[in-house]
Amino acid sequence: MRITCLGSGSAGNCYLLHNETECLVIEAGIPFKEVKKALDFNIRKIVGIVVSHEHGDHAKYLHEYIKVGIPVMAPSMGHITGALTAISKPFAVRSFPLVHDVPCTGFLIEHSEVGRLLFVTDTEYVRYRFKNLNHIMVECNYSNELLQAYHESLQGRIKLTHMELSTCKDFIQANKGHELKTVCLLHLSGRTSDEVVFKKEVKELIECPVYVADKGLEYEL
Ligand SMILES: [Zn+2]
Repeated sequence: MRITCLGSGSAGNCYLLHNETECLVIEAGIPFKEVKKALDFNIRKIVGIVVSHEHGDHAKYLHEYIKVGIPVMAPSMGHITGALTAISKPFAVRSFPLVHDVPCTGFLIEHSEVGRLLFVTDTEYVRYRFKNLNHIMVECNYSNELLQAYHESLQGRIKLTHMELSTCKDFIQANKGHELKTVCLLHLSGRTSDEVVFKKEVKELIECPVYVADKGLEYEL
């Protein structure tokens, strides 16, 4: 099973969790045709799509998935019943609330090939702790240091809705265990992040590989 990133950030978010026969799409922030291309047009293997919240960079193209009958799990947008059952095999997906300016959820995804994968984006912080995680995909949007250059009004909004580097590091520290195999940093801000520094600082906390999500990133789980 592998992760393919088709976009991560305010221009559009979409990740594929897939092998030869199964695919779970995470976020609908890029056109469905891009997903088709990435899957060599084998869209029958898509078992469902999970969407964290209604903002365009995460949900703009959800209607395209609904139109072709792909099961949707987007609890923050009211899509949950039925879709949950449809996605529960072979992927078992559970959602939990995050802290954003609109209702938003993270996902704990379990699969026999993957183990336990946690997906968290667009949140100031995470209220919960998770055990035995094998893979963490977590937002690392900005650093306080780089944000200081911007006007206070922008700072206020970002601080209440997105995850800062030190919060991200604390989250990884609190949820890491022997089983952890990969960490992927998501949704880095174009203006207030530094990919090299963020990756280096997170790498100091853990033994396993650390990736930074960007269009075209692909890695094995
Ligand atoms: Zn958002």
